[in-house]
Parts: sequence; structure tokens; C-alpha cells
Amino acid sequence: MREFLLAVYERLFAHFGPRHWWPAETPFEVIVGAILTQNVAWKGAAQAIANLKEKGWLAPRALLEAPEEELAALVRPARYHRQKAQRLKDFCRVVVEECGGDLEVLLKQDVAPLRQRLLSIRGIGPETADSIILYAAEKPVFVIDAYTHRIFHRLGIFPARARYAEMQAFFMRHLPLDVKLFNEYHAQLDALGHHLCLKRAPRCGECPVLSFCKNAATNPREPYCGRM
Ligand code: SF4
Repeated sequence: MREFLLAVYERLFAHFGPRHWWPAETPFEVIVGAILTQNVAWKGAAQAIANLKEKGWLAPRALLEAPEEELAALVRPARYHRQKAQRLKDFCRVVVEECGGDLEVLLKQDVAPLRQRLLSIRGIGPETADSIILYAAEKPVFVIDAYTHRIFHRLGIFPARARYAEMQAFFMRHLPLDVKLFNEYHAQLDALGHHLCLKRAPRCGECPVLSFCKNAATNPREPYCGRM
């Protein structure tokens, strides 16, 4: 299985090239982005981050002290703006009140306690917590998202219904615990899911892992699919 997973990775990397994730200048910006991109495309989150930067609020204490209405207005491009403004404040409250405003104090913890603390913050679920751990704290956890499940279901690895923890354990059991690999692998899956392995009409004819894909041979919606 390790060879298979690495072969998938290598095909994706050769096709899409390095993805340079996460698109952020600081670990705090990674975290703000991870919260703002929940349930929305990255474009909206990026615009919201640009608004926060312009206002000079892209820092834990500034966000915590920001007037709620004004903050919600700035993050409106990321949708669910009131809820997300509150989530940003909830996270920043932990940094300010428990870590003296120093994000590094939070992020330097070992993976297990860090993950537990992140998951205890309202609005931070497994995908967001793991994105923070991998891309902001730079510790080796594999991030699972809807694309990961869809792609590996179509490849014949995951069932139609699969739990987050089981999928994550699968990757972490079979791959070396390597931050750079996990970083790039998740980014490559995002590229495949976003551009080719689409929900309704996957573009299998252009897919670099077509020859590995069980679904491609049988998917009735994709008549041009076949094994290479
Ligand atoms: S061959 Fe098609 S269904 Fe299979 S992973 Fe590629 S795009 Fe998705």
C-alpha cells in the first residue's frame, strides 16, 4: 500500500507540479485562513484575509479586541461572516489568555495535546485542527477533506462512507511521517479534486492516476474513462 500511495503522489506531483502550500506569510495567517475557508472556496477566504491585513487586524490581540460588527463585515467575503468572526475571536482568546499572545507557545506543544486543545475550541473540527497542525505548526498529521475521500473512494480504497479518523489513520499508517510529504500530498489531492476529479463529471481523460482508478473503468457518467 505504501508503494501505491507514493505512486499516486508521484503521478500527481509530476502532473500538477509543486503547489507551494499553504498560501500564507505567517503561521497565524495560515490559521485565520483555515478558519475562514471552512465550507467555502479559498477565493472568499483570501479576500477576507486581505481585508484584515489592510485594516491591520491580522494578529491575535487585534482580532480579539476588534468590534464584532466591524470584524464580521471584513470577513463577509468568506460567508457565514458572523459565525466566522466569532470563531476567529474564540481562537484568538486562547492565544491571548492562555499563551500571553504568543502563538508559538500554543503551536510548540506535541501533536496530541495540541490537537486536543484545538478541537476543544468552538468551530474547530478535525480538518481545521489538522490543517493548523500541519501547515502552521509544521508537525506531521495527514489532513483529510472531502476531496481526499472522493478521490480515494473512486480509486477503490475507501468505502462510500468513511470516518475522518479511519481515513487519516490509513495514510499515517502507510506513509512516512514526513511534514513535507504530508504538506504536498494534501495540496496535490486538492488540485486533483478541484480541477479533475469533480463531483459530478470527473475529467478522467486528463487524470494522471486514471490507470489506478477503479471508478474510472465503471463510472457510467464518464463514458470515455478507461484504463491506460
Ligand atoms: S480517473 Fe476520474 S474518477 Fe478516477 S481519480 Fe481520476 S478523475 Fe477521479
